Amino acid sequence: MTITDFPTTASGVRDEVPDPLFPAASHPAEPASPGEQALAAARFQLAEASRFLGLDEGLHLMLATPRRSLTVSVPVRREDGRMEVVQGYRVQHNLSRGPAKGGIRFHPSTDLPEVTALAMWMTWKCALAGIPYGGAKGGVAVDPGALTTRELERVTRRYVNEILPLIGPEKDIPAPDVGTDEQTMAWIMDTYSANAGYSVPGVVTGKPMTLGGSLGRAGATSRGVQIAALQALSRSPEDATVAVQGFGKVGALAAQYLADAGCRVVAVSDATGAVVRRTGLDVAALRAHAAEAGSVYGYRDADALSHDELLEMDVDVLVPAALEGVITASNAPRVRARLIVEGANGPTTPEADRILTEAGVTVVPDILANAGGVIVSYLEWVQNMQAYSWSANEVEVKLRDLMTTAFQAVASLSEERDLTLRQAAHAIGVGRVAEAHQMRGLYP
Ligand code: GLU
Repeated sequence: MTITDFPTTASGVRDEVPDPLFPAASHPAEPASPGEQALAAARFQLAEASRFLGLDEGLHLMLATPRRSLTVSVPVRREDGRMEVVQGYRVQHNLSRGPAKGGIRFHPSTDLPEVTALAMWMTWKCALAGIPYGGAKGGVAVDPGALTTRELERVTRRYVNEILPLIGPEKDIPAPDVGTDEQTMAWIMDTYSANAGYSVPGVVTGKPMTLGGSLGRAGATSRGVQIAALQALSRSPEDATVAVQGFGKVGALAAQYLADAGCRVVAVSDATGAVVRRTGLDVAALRAHAAEAGSVYGYRDADALSHDELLEMDVDVLVPAALEGVITASNAPRVRARLIVEGANGPTTPEADRILTEAGVTVVPDILANAGGVIVSYLEWVQNMQAYSWSANEVEVKLRDLMTTAFQAVASLSEERDLTLRQAAHAIGVGRVAEAHQMRGLYP
């Protein structure tokens, strides 16, 4: 295999944006799936970073391919007695800086290319955050909303059983992602521990407090988004308006923390629709409504808005906090926010990135903006490995310190070398991993 076997452009269609290092070869004409597009985007960003760092083609190829990928079939007994089989994945992209780390996603459209892209982003994210992990991601192609709790438990336990040879507190440590939560992590911890014959809290992070979870983990990604947004804002929070796309685990608390910091959160959306109030939403009331109604839909103290309108709103800060590929070449020219802070992984396609950069929009990239989650996962794991627990304040101080250090490193490199924040973040993340590879050497 050579590097030219990969789709070399952001969209997976070769003749749009040639890979800066390895010019395009032929590519099938059919449009790439969302997962393939995410993977092409991740490889495009890596190619840019590799060129900037002057990495040789062999090392670039190693970093462009995952270390291990496991696909498993997960049979699940439905409540009516039928058996269905769903596909599950665990990809360990890189292990050069420590055990693999990354969440598990339950979503109907998750596939191997998407999980691979997400695992690659975890590698750079952990390196950029300065925490001693490689990158991994898992996924199961199910819609958790369409399963009963007992069905979800059976899917989770069987999936964990299938990926058991890969995971462990010193090997690969899963965590929550889209569609999974504390309860899922508790089942993972229990299934792994039952197989081991003793309790192993450090096998997974994002656990409930009673099983060795960490104070501050539940809101950690959102807290990190708030820290990154406030660092990047060129005005005082009181003068800033914010729109948040996605009102789930990350978006709802990011909206809350930004409102707590003084920002005016004027619009939020979830899968059911969007709501807007130019004078500012009462985020706490909206969260209470969403917790009860299951969505922002029907919240009375605001007007309705379409998903597209939210992304194109005239606000200072836009926080995409849902899935990949939502800011694309087609809507990027209409984005009016001056600052985008990526709570989600991969929300902006590389074509959109280029359009936004040309328009002078600052994008705080995913691997920096949403690193708060994995940073507190690391703090949880350290506490588990020491059988000790820290106060909320200790966790908060360490999170703030690691986020701020990463932000400042990215901002200075961007300034010094005239890079976008994304290019600088990737240059640092990829550079640290490349350095680890070079120091370790190739075995045999
Ligand atoms: N799923 C989160 C992410 O994408 C957290 C991963 C973790 O804590 O390991 O960063």
